[in-house]
Amino acid sequence: MGVTLQMSEEKELSREEIERLQKEVRRLAEEKNAIILAHYYQRPEVQDIADFVGDSLELSRKAASTDADIIVFCGVRFMCETAKILSPRKKVLHPNPESGCPMADMITAEQVRKLREKHPDAEFVAYINTTAEVKAEVDLCVTSANAPRVIKKLSSKKIVFLPDQALGQWVAKQVPDKEFILWKGFCPPHFEFTAREVEKLKEQYPDAKVAVHPECHPKVIEMADFVGSTSQILKYATSVEAKKVIVITEVGLKYTLMKKNPNKEYIFPESMNYCGTVYCCTMKGITLPKVYETLRDETNEVLLPEEIIERARRPIERMLQLS
Ligand code: SF4
Repeated sequence: MGVTLQMSEEKELSREEIERLQKEVRRLAEEKNAIILAHYYQRPEVQDIADFVGDSLELSRKAASTDADIIVFCGVRFMCETAKILSPRKKVLHPNPESGCPMADMITAEQVRKLREKHPDAEFVAYINTTAEVKAEVDLCVTSANAPRVIKKLSSKKIVFLPDQALGQWVAKQVPDKEFILWKGFCPPHFEFTAREVEKLKEQYPDAKVAVHPECHPKVIEMADFVGSTSQILKYATSVEAKKVIVITEVGLKYTLMKKNPNKEYIFPESMNYCGTVYCCTMKGITLPKVYETLRDETNEVLLPEEIIERARRPIERMLQLS
């Protein structure tokens, strides 16, 4: 027998309701041979019911290797699409179809085709944070964890990098022998966080190290002791000698950091004021009741045209080989 809670009007859940729903989700996952994947930026109560919590690359790999019949993907739309591309015969469910990534939506397939006409001699590299239609137009996908390493392996001297200008600039500095043409997309929560806010945190915590995600503004990146993807920050912050680490990435990571090494202090911009927080609203659009309802009813299935799946798989597989 399932839980029958009225959840169309979402409200704050009590601890008991959260635990009850979590048990129900796990029971349904067993019964339906479903795997639950969650990004590090998800809410703690959602991370807790996941079979696996990770960043884009790790989740892509999980999606490709699982033998589950259903993948419930707790992340934004492009991540669910990537799971579908890599596991086309599985049922991929997205608990909130309205949770997209604003950066991924800053470039369309049509715009990529036009750029191709302008730069026929370039290799086109897309950050994994792109729609399936955009992936279908490019030569290679990368994540923030592997971008510099993978791009160095390309023979082409000219790279069109899209859509994230901040990540593109950071990569270009590490691959100086190539020419980069950057699309002007950006991640609103990361890119809009200012260097002045980092300065204030450094004044407040002078003995702390600073770890920054490469989607941040180049001026913020300049102030970092360490720059890396979410997984790389997780590794750095939990193992660095310093007792305090200022972490400039989405605040959801704090939960995993505390679980992995509670003996350190992780300072997120949230401690200053809410406006200065690196907070992704669309990631937080996935709630526990939505995960429960989606798995129970097997709704919100991610569907893509066969032709897009075929074409979008090539740049992702190339990335997985090169990385
Ligand atoms: S944190 Fe930025 S890149 Fe990630 S989903 Fe949110 S808007 Fe997109």
